[in-house]
Amino acid sequence: MKQPLSAIVIGSGIAGMAIAIRLAVKGYAVTVIEKNTGPGGKLTAFEQDGFHFDAGPSLFTQPENVAALFELAHENMADYFSYQPVTIACKYFFENGKSVNAYTDARLFAKEMEDKLGEDAQHVLQYLERSEKLYNDIGKLFIGHSLHKMSTWLSTGIIKALAAVKPGYVFESLNHYNERCFSTVEATQLFNRFATYNGSNPFQTPAMLSLIPHLEQNQGTFYPGGGMISITNALYQLSIKKGVTYRFNSPVERILEDEGRATGVLVAGEFIPATIVVSNGDVYYTYKNLLGKEAAAQKVLKQERSSSAIIFYWGINRQLDQLGLHNIFFSRDYKKEFDLIFKKQEVTDDPTVYINITSKMEQSQAPAGKENWFVMVNAPADNGQDWQAMKRNLRTNVLNKLSRMLQLPIESMIASETTLDPRMIQEQTTSYKGSLYGTSSNSRLAAFLRHANFTGATKGLYFCGGSVHPGGGIPLCLKSAMIVSDIISTDAKHNF
Ligand code: FAD
Repeated sequence: MKQPLSAIVIGSGIAGMAIAIRLAVKGYAVTVIEKNTGPGGKLTAFEQDGFHFDAGPSLFTQPENVAALFELAHENMADYFSYQPVTIACKYFFENGKSVNAYTDARLFAKEMEDKLGEDAQHVLQYLERSEKLYNDIGKLFIGHSLHKMSTWLSTGIIKALAAVKPGYVFESLNHYNERCFSTVEATQLFNRFATYNGSNPFQTPAMLSLIPHLEQNQGTFYPGGGMISITNALYQLSIKKGVTYRFNSPVERILEDEGRATGVLVAGEFIPATIVVSNGDVYYTYKNLLGKEAAAQKVLKQERSSSAIIFYWGINRQLDQLGLHNIFFSRDYKKEFDLIFKKQEVTDDPTVYINITSKMEQSQAPAGKENWFVMVNAPADNGQDWQAMKRNLRTNVLNKLSRMLQLPIESMIASETTLDPRMIQEQTTSYKGSLYGTSSNSRLAAFLRHANFTGATKGLYFCGGSVHPGGGIPLCLKSAMIVSDIISTDAKHNF
């Protein structure tokens, strides 16, 4: 009798769970092997002193990528997961006292930009229209397909996509483009910020990244009921329903190969065979530690790492009406901030501070009358810096900045506290140097140089997640699982 096809997925990050679901639906016997005690990778949560904290991602866009998994599995998503649109994508605060609500209604947002910053509303509307066109003409195709398969390059869509690539989108920096599009420094800074959505430097990354605001401002942002951890919980439950098996507390030690084919993995000395193996761990780490291929690992390192972050999880003992779900307090000198992160591997003394407060959406996320603050500052990837000293200085600078801009003694309001830094991110998820989004998009060809979702050197071995094509962030990680699933279907026709 023919044996059923079996798959091992190394890691239960968001992409690991998504590929597990996709393969289970195709009829594979899927085992996810995870070194941590539970699923989620970067997308986990914890409780402290009655405060709920989502540990990693806080911004949820393109929920259709999650919905697609439920549709594929013929399950009713509402039985597992719910989310609601957010009307203000972000509240922005500037050091000069100006502030802006970035409404997800484009007209309201444009009017707010005109009223509060003096930026011509038409500039904003035209920018968002171009952002949408860029995403539809180019972005969609590139993030939804493998760039390493001839079939993508022979598709009819590619000609339209390539025709839409104006040289400026490739050769001009995002900052330069934004300076041309807007008349105020605040609007430029606000739209420069979108480069950080994949850990890049707006003063280096190409203007192509001006497609990102479309995802947040036009398509909108969403809040999952119960916080971001609900995404992990929903996909975990869905995968279990589809028959996926999990082994937690089980670091994979080795991917085994025979005559250029992946044959399974080694866990605590036990050989677990499989028809195919998918690594959801960092691709550098996979080559170096699981395959023992130093040269291939070094090749991955030719691409610059994305930025990382330092996070302060603060339980705050009162509520602040002037804040919303997502808040940004901008630095005075954005250029200096990114120069320090990417060139000197340091954090500036006047950082841009992001605060996410899920108790604004659900009071149950914090004790009555209090708020759960996820306070994040962009930081370099780990290069052996003294993170304790850096966190100490940063804490002082963040508190000074917030106290100044909010006119409140923030330190005295902290009732509960813990932190996360790049070293801890690497330890928890194997992300090399703790980078949040794999490689940065600082170079013009970054999209093409990100590692493929497979390797020609080992048949039956695939890669999904933030360190490979199409990149980091929840939507792209979910797309990577879709791309891997498509490649596996094609390979299966040729017996891998
Ligand atoms: P990961 O989450 O990296 O998980 C990989 C898993 O593989 C881990 O569980 C790890 O333990 C396991 N693993 C690795 N090696 C082995 C092994 N040898 N054996 C067994 N298991 C192994 N994205 C957004 O969309 N919005 C945001 O707002 C956002 N903010 C972020 C903020 C922070 C602080 C961080 C850290 C990330 C943020 N991101 C955000 C990025 C997003 O979290 C990631 O891109 C995404 O979650 C990565 O998922 P992944 O599937 O690549 O796997």
